[in-house]
Amino acid sequence: MSLSVLISGAGIGGPSLAFWLGRLGYRVTVVEQSPVLRAGGGAAVDFRGEQVALLERMGVLADIRAHETGMGDQLIVDAAGRTVSRFPSALFSGEVEIDRGDLARILYRHSSTDADYIFGDRITAIDQDADTVRVQFAHGPSRSYDLVVGADGLHSGVRRLVFGDEDEFRSDLGYYVAAFSVPNTFGLDHSGLIYNEPGRYLSLGSARDPERAVAGFIFSAPPTEFDRREVGAQKRFIADHFAGVGWRAPQLLAALQDAADLYFDSLSQIRLDRWSDGRVALLGDAAWCAGPGGNGTGHAMLGAYTLAGELAAADGDHRIAFARYERIMRPPVEKSQKFATGAGRFLAPATRWQIRRRDLTYRVLSSAPMSGIFTRMSSRSAKTGTPASYPLPVA
Ligand SMILES: Cc1cc2nc3c(=O)[nH]c(=O)nc-3n(C[C@H](O)[C@H](O)[C@H](O)COP(=O)(O)OP(=O)(O)OC[C@H]3O[C@@H](n4cnc5c(N)ncnc54)[C@H](O)[C@@H]3O)c2cc1C
Repeated sequence: MSLSVLISGAGIGGPSLAFWLGRLGYRVTVVEQSPVLRAGGGAAVDFRGEQVALLERMGVLADIRAHETGMGDQLIVDAAGRTVSRFPSALFSGEVEIDRGDLARILYRHSSTDADYIFGDRITAIDQDADTVRVQFAHGPSRSYDLVVGADGLHSGVRRLVFGDEDEFRSDLGYYVAAFSVPNTFGLDHSGLIYNEPGRYLSLGSARDPERAVAGFIFSAPPTEFDRREVGAQKRFIADHFAGVGWRAPQLLAALQDAADLYFDSLSQIRLDRWSDGRVALLGDAAWCAGPGGNGTGHAMLGAYTLAGELAAADGDHRIAFARYERIMRPPVEKSQKFATGAGRFLAPATRWQIRRRDLTYRVLSSAPMSGIFTRMSSRSAKTGTPASYPLPVA
């Protein structure tokens, strides 16, 4: 009989795993705590090199290309709005870029034919023995599954229930990130603007939807605990850290007060010495969150493919499959975590001198004779995990 699998989290990794396991004929349920698919802030995610090949193998590349942002270069501006440098599009937008919300919707659409989705519920207890995993939910009746996978992000509930408190595994990089959408009253057309003050990064970008722009905030701040449901406290925290900042900060802080789709979190990493316990495994940010520039989306999708592929190769024997999955995914994930520790400092340098030095460097690098470097850098960063070939039904 086919295995029954419960996946917690309908972000990126969860629906990707549901897609592959559904194709294998497994009985798949995805439980998502949010009442609807979360788009959140409108930030974009990008794919490069081998990651694009994986999208093609899934049969979602055409759909993703149809929603591509087509984002151009991001101009770095001074307080008066004058261009001082630029980040070429290959640096931030890779080979294919799409809004995270559009990607989540595409993955949901491609997986929901072979998987049951339950929105507005979450796992409250997990109890396993050698043969089965018994699960209690906040709202629905208890049920048993052959396997449970926690793909429920940085603040994973499955990880807490099976592996221990988040504090044991989370290290904060000393920065916070926020994103929300605003009307595009800035005349942006497939372009973005970035403004820095020491330890502060502000961005504005607009791509596919000409009516809408995305405001991004990154800032250094000591670790602070938040109630995830307390959006008002998060908004105050952001506003306090941008008080007195120039350029468009006052206008964006005013818009923040009305933002209905705010995404806010710490830049943090997750490190565990194992990603499975018996019949329960972790995937994506729940297992290995790296932070910005750390291939979070690509690795969640590669991890889903690898986990499903190893289950298929081991004929459903989770002991063999979970061990192989971890052996394959650890090297690329650790490489990305190492790379992403510097992302906060790069985006929001601590001093005016460091901001100027970065901007000067990028002015030189993005000049015509040097610009090929970004395409090379972009494909090198993608070489951090090649999809293996598995006996999975391809699209
Ligand atoms: C709304 C949103 C906006 C984001 N925006 C950005 C961004 O602007 N920049 C950036 O770098 N990264 C962002 N991320 C993180 C980025 O999407 C992930 O790093 C990456 O895609 C890895 O995907 P994942 O599936 O592992 O985790 P995620 O994409 O975080 O998905 C996890 C899913 O699990 C759900 N969930 C959480 N807890 C539970 C629970 N207890 N029970 C059931 N479901 C649960 C969440 O609602 C979410 O849908 C965002 C994530 C979300 C959820």
